Amino acid sequence: MIAGVRNAIRLATPYVPGKTVEEVRRELGLQKIVKLGSNENPYGPFPAARRAMSEEIGRLNTYPDVSFREIKSLIGERFGLGPEWVAISHGAEGMLQTLGKVFLEPGDEAILSFATYGLYREISLVMGATLKEILLKDDLSVNLRGMERAITGRAKLLWLNNPNNPTGLLLPKKSVENVIKRLPRGVWLVLDEAYAEFASPAELPSIRELLEAGCNLIVVRTFSKAWGLAGARIGYALARPEMVRIIDTVSEPFNANRIAIAGASASLKSDEAAFNEAIAATVRERQRVAKALHDMGGSVLPSHTNFLFVTFRTESGDVAGKLLRRGVIVRPCGAWGFGSSLRVTVGTPEQNDFFLEALRGVLSGDGEGGA
Ligand code: PMP
Repeated sequence: MIAGVRNAIRLATPYVPGKTVEEVRRELGLQKIVKLGSNENPYGPFPAARRAMSEEIGRLNTYPDVSFREIKSLIGERFGLGPEWVAISHGAEGMLQTLGKVFLEPGDEAILSFATYGLYREISLVMGATLKEILLKDDLSVNLRGMERAITGRAKLLWLNNPNNPTGLLLPKKSVENVIKRLPRGVWLVLDEAYAEFASPAELPSIRELLEAGCNLIVVRTFSKAWGLAGARIGYALARPEMVRIIDTVSEPFNANRIAIAGASASLKSDEAAFNEAIAATVRERQRVAKALHDMGGSVLPSHTNFLFVTFRTESGDVAGKLLRRGVIVRPCGAWGFGSSLRVTVGTPEQNDFFLEALRGVLSGDGEGGA
């Protein structure tokens, strides 16, 4: 460790992102590559966002509007809340980083699930907090009661991803709402709903009611997934106005760039039809791919996201490696403790067919000298 670097950072490890198309092209020299490893949206950016982002380039010599007035209003409207209930960030991950800074001091306890999105762990460690990781239940759903029972006098933050990455499972609305309503004073729940737009709205917790009731809740969302703007880097939080003021104070002032703000605002104003079509196409394909994986002998969890979690009897790192050589990038789940599971983004019908064909080849050992 380099001298002078904070102690807490010794415990943290770098986030390992999915492989990029550029990386695979460089390594393997393949022509056709289908990336189903990072849960991106193949249909975005939507038309109005594209136009607005192109036009915004000419204004990049000036700083963005730090009040984020228009985008905060547009986001708030979707939830029946005013702009003062919305904070903007550089991707959802920017918001998660800010929330770590807002809440966690050395010695505080951060409660999270294992397995879930990896960043909660690293952010908590960098802030010097102690982790309490609660294992998934046997059916691989998040053990929310276990997380609640882990709250002690030192607990500060619960990180909850719903639907959960990497499983795609959604917790029952009522049980999430009840835990949020019972949070002790000074203990906050960060509800990361990065994939919520792919779930059925009636099954999601009632954000507005919980926030208006004064619960210790902060909801994090993103334009990276359902809105197809992962490369633009823009996310947001919904929270009580006094908490939004704190978040806005802690985050850097120019917390989202002009291109991202222009794209996200235009999409919210004018891309509703394209957004709905992309969600519907993803949900349709999710069903079709799940059935195909099941027919190949895979055990597939019911997904409420734009990805599928599938388990075969073979080692998934090996399967992922072989898929990569056939030009398909997926996420093996060994690092999450699932050595025979893969996380696969639901792509376009054509991308999904390419993936399924490649997987059939890998599983049958076709051209591999044995699977
Ligand atoms: N939360 C979850 C659960 C995610 O899976 C991701 C991205 N993979 C993020 C947050 C971060 O998203 P963003 O691109 O908005 O930073």
